[in-house]
Amino acid sequence: MISQKSVQEILETAKIEDVVQDFVTLRRRGVNMLGLCPFHNEKTPSFTVSPAKNIYKCFGCGKGGNSAQFLMEHENFSFPEALRYLAKKYNIDIEETQTTQENREERQLLDSLYLITDFAKQYYQEQLFETDTGKSVGLAYFKERGFREEIIRKFGLGYAPAKKDAFTVKAVHTGYNVEKLKKLGLTSKYNSDFFRDRVMFTIHNMTGKVIGFGGRTLQKDKKIPKYINSPETEIYNKSKVLYGAYFAKRAIRQKEECILVEGYTDVLSLHQAGIENVVASSGTSLTVGQIQLIKRYTPNIKIIYDGDPAGIKAALRGLDLVLEQDMNVKVVLLPEGEDPDSYLQQVGTTAFETYVEEQAQDFILFKTNLLLAETKGDPVKKAKLVKDIVKSIAGIPDPLKRSVYVKECANVLEMSESILVDETNKIVGERLRKQRQKREATPSPQQQADTRNELIHIQPSPESGLGQMQSDTTRKGQTLELQERDIVRILIAGGDKIFDQEHQLSVAAYVLSNIEEVINDFDNKAYEAIAKECHRLLVKKQKITTSHFTNHADDQIREIAVNVLQSPFEYSENWKAIHDIDLNTQPKPEDNFTKDSIYALHRFKLRKLIQMCAKNQQRLKDIGSDTGKMMKLLKMQQRLIAMRDELAKKLNTVVLK
Ligand SMILES: [Zn+2]
Repeated sequence: MISQKSVQEILETAKIEDVVQDFVTLRRRGVNMLGLCPFHNEKTPSFTVSPAKNIYKCFGCGKGGNSAQFLMEHENFSFPEALRYLAKKYNIDIEETQTTQENREERQLLDSLYLITDFAKQYYQEQLFETDTGKSVGLAYFKERGFREEIIRKFGLGYAPAKKDAFTVKAVHTGYNVEKLKKLGLTSKYNSDFFRDRVMFTIHNMTGKVIGFGGRTLQKDKKIPKYINSPETEIYNKSKVLYGAYFAKRAIRQKEECILVEGYTDVLSLHQAGIENVVASSGTSLTVGQIQLIKRYTPNIKIIYDGDPAGIKAALRGLDLVLEQDMNVKVVLLPEGEDPDSYLQQVGTTAFETYVEEQAQDFILFKTNLLLAETKGDPVKKAKLVKDIVKSIAGIPDPLKRSVYVKECANVLEMSESILVDETNKIVGERLRKQRQKREATPSPQQQADTRNELIHIQPSPESGLGQMQSDTTRKGQTLELQERDIVRILIAGGDKIFDQEHQLSVAAYVLSNIEEVINDFDNKAYEAIAKECHRLLVKKQKITTSHFTNHADDQIREIAVNVLQSPFEYSENWKAIHDIDLNTQPKPEDNFTKDSIYALHRFKLRKLIQMCAKNQQRLKDIGSDTGKMMKLLKMQQRLIAMRDELAKKLNTVVLK
């Protein structure tokens, strides 16, 4: 594991504007920088980068965070991957923690495997472009398929020569370990090359690293398999990889849709024609891992099938999996005998796109129609079909979508909607029952939360907990959340600033000492956690810095930090007049931090007093005839009201009952 010290060093060295600008064009706007958001489709920029706060935030889609989050979101890196990327960018040596000798070895093994696959890619490419056979056989084939050189280079296409061990000899000679070549499936156990006399397709992971290969023979001999592929290895988990995904991810996000085709060459053709949001499952049936990969970028998937009825029926079976992941699935059937590559070459890009757009059918309806045609009126077959369709529908997590499908399918099948509803509910009910059982067996809080969500979606009954949750939400409007948020904002934005020069008192020290009695009594527990953490830091005499929170290990805290810092409502317009805060000078002079925190504290206290008055009032009502107690409460009420009004006067606020 990367040591905490290194994590901090990396996150504090990384400049958000540098990191983002490798992917997004930014323009300076005042103290911030502005660009088109890479995470949602927009025409006017609302993606804001704040060099001073070292964070980004999009006011369109709400995404925001530090440099590491940006990379995790944009490049689909894991947190350690993002850190390693940044460390490399800024030449920081990563310190690994002691306990992970094993991890380090594994890391080194993986790195050495990636070196080999990259070497292999370069080798096959050289063979393609620089040898006579490569050019006359391999390159000629690709050119004949219509691929331009830029696409051939971009996707790392290559050629493996026919000679028995040409690659292995070269690799070993270069210094690569033959056992690792075998591990990667590049070399057979008899030390000969696995890929021979084939054109080569390079398979990349989501960060663009080479993880494996597919090789196609150009021989007409039927006994030779047309395609062979790298085996599963430490770096190539086939169920989690889609061909072309690395080159498609940006377009998928922009077009909010992923096109799924079958073969390598389909991906290449479409990509070359400018349809870049395209990936291939490369022959295997779709796995949950692959669907989740797509889902990170878009919930919309469009599957293009070759016009071959037998193949389609087999493929349909895998698609319930996609529905269960709550994806919107559309299906496009090409004219009989065509595949995407051939059809595109035949009709051209525009006609192809129009065809795909017009022919796309919703998956469940497509399946219903397809199977219905087969039943040819046979009632037994039809009953089986209904079961099949109902199973697909029941797998959809969203109840609203389910009910739409039930309606439409009932229509197509010419049967009563209520039968389909009953059948669907049976399956959904069964699933819920199983989930409940599972929950009772292993009641982790996360699972409980998951199941509760599921229950709410499916049957919003009083006992499902929905009622409770709703009243929680409505109550929020009357709570202190806004004022608590403001306290948190002050602590995060300027906690370490000087409040009182003479006594060397920090803003955090001033604010926290003033709310000490109520620090366990926040309405919003996440805000409370932040206030308490500040308190702990203060006690330990550590600085309370903005980056401590924007780089915090806890997701929720980090998110709150980014949000409070980037809130467009930081100051209301009449503040300058009322509070004498200068809004136009940024970064804020120390003087403003002082005033800002005083007023935030006053507002917080005022709200707290109003809340206490209301509670006390309620107690007075409930007290009954105990005069002693009543007198006590009345006195308290008078005191609270006096404090409240005094504070209100300071704030120039009229207290509304
Ligand atoms: Zn956005």
